Amino acid sequence: MTTTVPDPGLLALGLDGVMQGATSSYEKRLGDMAGVYRDDAAYRRALAEKGAGFLVYRVEEHRNVGGPGALIIGTSTLQPGRYGDEFAVTRGHLHAQADRAELYYCLSGTGVMLLETLDGRSEALPMRPGGAVHVPGHWVHRSVNVGDEPFVTLFCYGADAGQDYELIARAGGMSSLVVDDGAGGWSTRPNAEHTGYART
Ligand code: ZN
Repeated sequence: MTTTVPDPGLLALGLDGVMQGATSSYEKRLGDMAGVYRDDAAYRRALAEKGAGFLVYRVEEHRNVGGPGALIIGTSTLQPGRYGDEFAVTRGHLHAQADRAELYYCLSGTGVMLLETLDGRSEALPMRPGGAVHVPGHWVHRSVNVGDEPFVTLFCYGADAGQDYELIARAGGMSSLVVDDGAGGWSTRPNAEHTGYART
């Protein structure tokens, strides 16, 4: 039996999230974020002001092979913003293979990694340049930009992990929101619309 050995990837990372050597990329724009923010009126005001094409976040990835053991390495660049008192977020997900872990390393900006388990544990871990968060398997995770500059992370996870993006929407959002504390910082508060996570 022969094994096809993929080529190595040489990746040049900009603090702006541009990754030379990326093999794919995607963007999420304001029009893609319906239902994500709890203050829907604030979201709709932003949509009217900025337009559906306003960039919320961009992901660049290097993936050269699939299967167990392979890695997907990429950058996430989340633009700053507030929707009501809630800071700009990525959609967030649980890995479809829920036991798959992930590393996030902050390249620039100021953010929070919001983490929750299906049985109700919640963590909001601050991220600054040079800091990293190890997201174990079985944690729902989402990036939050709590600063005024783009929040850029380098991520790395198993190529067979996959993502369940609908879990959070079905639960009425994550159980905690990262919000403006009114004093130049951030805090968390419970999301009253959260109904608990139910996997299908
Ligand atoms: Zn992930």
